[in-house]
Amino acid sequence: MSEIRLFECACGHKLRFGSQRCGWCYERTSLVNRREFWMISGLGVGVSAVALIAALT
Ligand SMILES: [Zn+2]
Repeated sequence: MSEIRLFECACGHKLRFGSQRCGWCYERTSLVNRREFWMISGLGVGVSAVALIAALT
């Protein structure tokens, strides 16, 4: 499995997606690097869409 490295730490290190700490300086990574964040975002969008459809029908 290939590693996904989308985001950079403040130190410039490419963060491994889903990791909670930078592999170089061990600073905590930002929320956008977390799988949970995207899952919750997806869930939020899904719930909003359902609410919108429910409101329209
Ligand atoms: Zn770092």
